[in-house]
Amino acid sequence: MKASKMFLSTLREVPSEAEIPSHILLLRAGMIKKLVSGVYAFMPLGFRSLRKIEEIVRQEMDAAGAQEVLMSALQPAELWQESGRWYAYGPEMWRLKDRNAREFCLGPTHEEIFTDVVRQQVSSYRQLPLNLYQIQTKYRDEARPRFGLIRSREFIMKDAYSFDRDEAGLDDSYKAMYAAYEKVFDRCGLKYRAVEADSGAIGGNNSHEFCALSDVGEEEIVYCEHCSMAATAERAAFKDEPGAAVEELPLEKKHTPGTKTIEAVAEYLGLEQKQTMKALLLQAFDPEDPDAKIRYIACFIRGDRQLNMTKLVNALGLPEYAVQFADEAAMAGETGCVGGFTGPIGLHDCTIVADTELVNTKNLCAGACEADHHYINVNYGRDYKADIVTDIKLLQAGDTCPVCGAPVKSARGIEVGQVFKLGTKYSVPMNLCYSDENQQEHPVLMGCYGIGVTRTLAAVVEQNHDDNGIIWPMSIAPYHAVITVINPKDEVQMSLAGSIFARLEAAGLEVVVDEREERPGVKFKDADLLGFPIRITVGKKAADGIVEYKLRRGGDNTDMTADQAADAAIELYNKEK
Ligand code: ATP
Ligand code: MG
Repeated sequence: MKASKMFLSTLREVPSEAEIPSHILLLRAGMIKKLVSGVYAFMPLGFRSLRKIEEIVRQEMDAAGAQEVLMSALQPAELWQESGRWYAYGPEMWRLKDRNAREFCLGPTHEEIFTDVVRQQVSSYRQLPLNLYQIQTKYRDEARPRFGLIRSREFIMKDAYSFDRDEAGLDDSYKAMYAAYEKVFDRCGLKYRAVEADSGAIGGNNSHEFCALSDVGEEEIVYCEHCSMAATAERAAFKDEPGAAVEELPLEKKHTPGTKTIEAVAEYLGLEQKQTMKALLLQAFDPEDPDAKIRYIACFIRGDRQLNMTKLVNALGLPEYAVQFADEAAMAGETGCVGGFTGPIGLHDCTIVADTELVNTKNLCAGACEADHHYINVNYGRDYKADIVTDIKLLQAGDTCPVCGAPVKSARGIEVGQVFKLGTKYSVPMNLCYSDENQQEHPVLMGCYGIGVTRTLAAVVEQNHDDNGIIWPMSIAPYHAVITVINPKDEVQMSLAGSIFARLEAAGLEVVVDEREERPGVKFKDADLLGFPIRITVGKKAADGIVEYKLRRGGDNTDMTADQAADAAIELYNKEK
């Protein structure tokens, strides 16, 4: 490919809307272009890398026995109503109507569609197991599209769905997909961790996320270096600190003027934060009946803990979008809560959720539901009861590992994939059944498996760049090498570049010849920004058959004969492709 013919425009400036390196560099390199917030187009170089990731995904899915299909993005509402998700999915779903007012959505995911297709065709155990996948465009009207391809509103996902007759089969399908994911992300050159993930209302140990490690990742991961525990923070179980075996002291109200925070009240009363309890006031609407009365929820956790919203919404059986922090003034009128001084005693007409740890911890300090007052020696059972008692706290760095008890560590990651045992979540409501050897009917067990293809591209750039630009891994580089011709008017240089190009191309490398009428500095800068793994520079020494060989990831700019440079490039390519 000649650089002079390439549809390419690189930017020197950092685009103002981009905050993180992958977003900045993909825009600056002209690999993607923004249309509107969260919607991007791929230009030739970006599209080449994207197709390479897709090809890796395709090869590994095929090798794992999955069959490729392509479903429509446009999906009828009826299927989502059948599964019960038309409301539950919430405002992230792009909904639309046709000219006859029939409702549709642009698919944010495809469980319903695959369940529907498979139930039309599968009826016997002989047709199972089955695994179907597609690489297709998804739509989600994200509340906060950001970071370019990492959280966009239109993106490409690989989604696979497995269909099995029993748990053992589902387990095999899940393991096969898990192993295929490891191969995909290894081949893309990502540093990642597979961690246990939340599986929503289904519960159990049914899901893993693959997280590319990165400080800009939105996913918090907690892991233990002493055992194999690794989970998203939202999923991680918590091992409660056992409460001290002390006597319950008499409840006492204290005047605590102006102490609206845990820090302030603990200091005022000379307590440790863990001797207090924290109130979090929330409100929820009914997703199936948004006009119904708002439901208020008061959650209590130990003063030094953080609320885990995922655990809370799972316990409430509500989708996360239906729950938000309460309008405290409105809530006060209905429930008796008092901003900064809310405790479980004196609250009414709301759902009280208490963290398990509070039940075993004696003599805590809590708000008195009265301005400038707290209670001390509050005890569960004697002084208050909750509607729900469950673990609703976040496991954080330094907390005790729920498996082995060592202090856990935390890291941030970009979720690039997730595998999920669905069981009968869709097959039962949508009536996807098979009959066994004895003509007995059973629901099919399903799994679903997603990879964010466009997000993976960004995650690779996030992990592989320096101040000058992208450093593509060989496997997904848009081109493997660039031959930079210092003076394209010099026929000796052009002809040497041509012969190197021919050798590399014959060996399977994809090569750009940069023969633009630009200053060498511009060409070097662009080559660094675009991130081709290998650069061969053909300049003055071409007359003696000498070129310079340099790797984008670092190392010296080395003089070599043209043949040596081609040999080195071919060898590296074969090792890393
Ligand atoms: P997140 O928690 O980041 O919103 P998710 O868990 O909702 O993602 P899934 O439904 O598991 O996403 O989708 C499968 C994969 O699709 C994710 O692992 C991720 O790689 C990718 N993905 C999801 N949402 C987006 C998005 N808005 N932009 C780009 N990729 C996405
Ligand atoms: Mg996910």
